[in-house]
Amino acid sequence: MARAAERLAVNADGPFYVDRSCIDCGTCWQFDPAHFAPTGRTSHVWAQPAGEEEVRAALLALQACPVAAIGTIRELLALTPADGFPSLVMSLAQGEVHYCGWASRKSFGASSWLITRRRSDGSPDNVLIDSPRWSAELARRIEAMGGVSRILLSHRDDVADHQAWARRFGAERWIHSADADAAAEAEHRFEGTERLRLDDDLLVIPVPGHTAGCVAVLFADQVLFSGDHLWWGVDPPGVVASRRVCWWNWEEQLRSVERLLDLDVRWLLPGHGRWHSFAPGEWRRELEATLTRAREGPSGEP
Ligand code: SF4
Repeated sequence: MARAAERLAVNADGPFYVDRSCIDCGTCWQFDPAHFAPTGRTSHVWAQPAGEEEVRAALLALQACPVAAIGTIRELLALTPADGFPSLVMSLAQGEVHYCGWASRKSFGASSWLITRRRSDGSPDNVLIDSPRWSAELARRIEAMGGVSRILLSHRDDVADHQAWARRFGAERWIHSADADAAAEAEHRFEGTERLRLDDDLLVIPVPGHTAGCVAVLFADQVLFSGDHLWWGVDPPGVVASRRVCWWNWEEQLRSVERLLDLDVRWLLPGHGRWHSFAPGEWRRELEATLTRAREGPSGEP
C-alpha cells in the first residue's frame, strides 16, 4: 500500500500521488497518460484527475500498479471500480481486445491482454496473451466474459502467475521451447522460427532476440501483441527495438524485426511501452525507420 509519508516531491499537489516504492515499470502512464508520466527514474502524478471519468482512470491505474506505489485518500479509494479490468481496447469482427490491468511485479509490470471471441457454435474461445497478477476479482470478471481457453506466453519474462490462471480456467498454455524453463508446466511448445497458424485469426510469429524464445502474436491480421520485442516510443515517436534491454542476441532481434516487414499491423500492443495504432501501409515505413535507427544508434532506440 502506498504511503503518504513516502510521497515523491515531484507529484502535482492533490489527492493522488506516487511514492518512493515505484519501480518505474510504466504501467500507470501507459494506461493513464493524462495524469501519470515518467520522470526518468520513477513515475509521478503530473496532473490531478478532475471529474468522475478522470478519477476512475486514475483509480484503475492505481489498481494496475504492480507494487501499490500509487496512493490517494480513503474517500476516493472507496470509489475504485470493481469492473474496470479487463478494459476494452478495440472491437473487431473477429472479437474484442481488452487490457487486463493488474500488472505483476514478477513480470516488471508487463501488460497482458485478453482476446474475447466465439467459435462457430457460439461458445467462447478466449485467449490470454501473457499473464496478469493473480486476482480473484479479475478472474470473476473474465469468467463472466467466457473464461480463457488458451494462454499464449510471449517470452520467459512475462509469465507471472500463469499457473493460477491456467488452473482457474483449465486453460492450455503455449510458450516457445527456448524459454520453456520459465513455464515448465505449459502444455504446448512453439518451435523454431516458422510461423504457426493456431486459428484462422491467430498467427504466432517467433521473434528471437530479446530472449531466445520470444514470440509475437498477430490477431485478425492486424493486431500485433509484441511482448518485449517492439513497442511504441514517444520522444521522438517511433517503433522501438531496444539494444539496451536485449537480453539474448541483438543481431538476431534485428533479423526478427525484418521478418515483420510483410505485415500491415494496425495496432501494436506490447508488454512494455506505449500502445499505438497505424494507418494502412504505415507499419512497413515505421519498421524500416526502426531498423535504420537500430543499426545507426548506440542503443537502438529513437
Ligand atoms: S505503475 Fe506503479 S510501479 Fe509502475 S511506474 Fe506507475 S507508480 Fe511506478
